[in-house]
Amino acid sequence: MPHHKDARRPLEPGPDELRRLIDACAAFVVEQIETLPSQPSWDLDGAERVAAGFAEPPPDDGRAIASILARLRPAVAKSLNAAGPGYLAYIPGGGIPSAALADFVALAVNRFVGIAGPAPALARIEAQAIDWLASLMGYPPGAGGILTSGGSISNLTAIVTARTTRLPEDFLSGVMYFSEEAHRSVAKAARIAGFPDRCLRSIPVDSRLRLRPDLLEAAIREDGGRGLRPFLVVANAGSTNTGAIDPLPEIADIAARHGLWVHADAAYGGFFRLVPDGAARLAGLERCDSITLDPHKGMFLPYGTGCLLVRDPETLRRAHGGQAAYLQDLGHGDGGASFTEISPELSRDFRGLRVWLPIQLHGLRAFREQIQEKLDLARWAYDQLKDEPLFEMLDEPQLSIVAFACRPPADGAGSTRPGAAVRDANAFGAELLRRVNARRRVFLSSTTIGGRFVLRLCVLSFRTHMDRVRDAVSALREEARAL
Ligand SMILES: *Cc1c(COP(=O)(O)O)cnc(C)c1O
Repeated sequence: MPHHKDARRPLEPGPDELRRLIDACAAFVVEQIETLPSQPSWDLDGAERVAAGFAEPPPDDGRAIASILARLRPAVAKSLNAAGPGYLAYIPGGGIPSAALADFVALAVNRFVGIAGPAPALARIEAQAIDWLASLMGYPPGAGGILTSGGSISNLTAIVTARTTRLPEDFLSGVMYFSEEAHRSVAKAARIAGFPDRCLRSIPVDSRLRLRPDLLEAAIREDGGRGLRPFLVVANAGSTNTGAIDPLPEIADIAARHGLWVHADAAYGGFFRLVPDGAARLAGLERCDSITLDPHKGMFLPYGTGCLLVRDPETLRRAHGGQAAYLQDLGHGDGGASFTEISPELSRDFRGLRVWLPIQLHGLRAFREQIQEKLDLARWAYDQLKDEPLFEMLDEPQLSIVAFACRPPADGAGSTRPGAAVRDANAFGAELLRRVNARRRVFLSSTTIGGRFVLRLCVLSFRTHMDRVRDAVSALREEARAL
């Protein structure tokens, strides 16, 4: 038996052993982060084999940390490199190291923060971080919210809160509205919240893919006239496909006229409000009753950090509050910080530290600079790509996504077949995407809009700078011309 292990306390390493374990993990993390710029943008060669290597019964005897980390190394490597500077696909996440350190500390001290009483100052730290986010979104003092695991859960909680606030307990006459470009999590959350498809209305968008307020109001009037209860509109504050921002002020006016709750899905777009450029484009966000934010997108935090803000925290309390006899001796502190009273969870991680510590360590200015850089890089990429005759830009970037379809030269025969031009363009786009990604410097993704194959370049990582965006643009140009 090694002398540093106490047979009676097998799960409690002594101080020297603990430091040795931390050092081993620290070395692993530094190596991972230090080599990110030279790692390929993706590598799934043999990934299945690596994955299969983990199918095994749990060991009865522990193994050395070095051998465990050695097995993790290829597991990390065989992946889309979502942490790297070349990741321009979907909505890039972040992963600032300071947030990982916050988690390390939070999980190691492992206090209970679901209720304010047991750790009032820690609960206050989380509530303070939420207050900061609320004020950054333009909410007045007194607004509140919760940290969630991500935008999907934030949207679900918003729908349940709007439902409880605006509808009777028997809520199936309720109708909710969102644009054709709404994130899939909205319809998914509606279903989880108990709304069948007949309670959902998908409203068409304009040429810039923004919800059309005239059609929204017409649909609300029609449903109201049929004895239904329009109760909620979900507005995009930066759509996932193209970053489209729905006309928030008009939507807020319509909602006010008809008594609807307005929820802004700002999972991707919200943090652009930190810079004047973005704030101007997101005007009206502060008028919404609730806002979904994903700090694991625009605030560059690691995956697993979402947020739901509400103008009136009482609405969250009415939707989630209630007493449990077995918790009767725990004080609820100042109320606002008892997260279980205003959210679906009870026990959970102290995720507030992951938001609070990086803001303390870096200051807001560092975040603002990064966010502005993303807007500038997307604009630069758009300006470069718009003059390429093989591409047809969908729109100027409303935030940091550049989206375009392809326009390959007609091959003559194509014009006689109906729909052939679109099919050719779609095939051209798919092959272009494959070739650009095959270089493994950047990783892009695609979507389908109006039947057309659309390539997207989303600049959102704090690690993505001009050199990498320039690589993406040259790869797109060169491969398109070669095709
Ligand atoms: C990412 C995203 C979501 C879903 O958020 P998750 O954190 O992935 O659950 C919802 N809405 C929009 C607009 C998004 O971009």
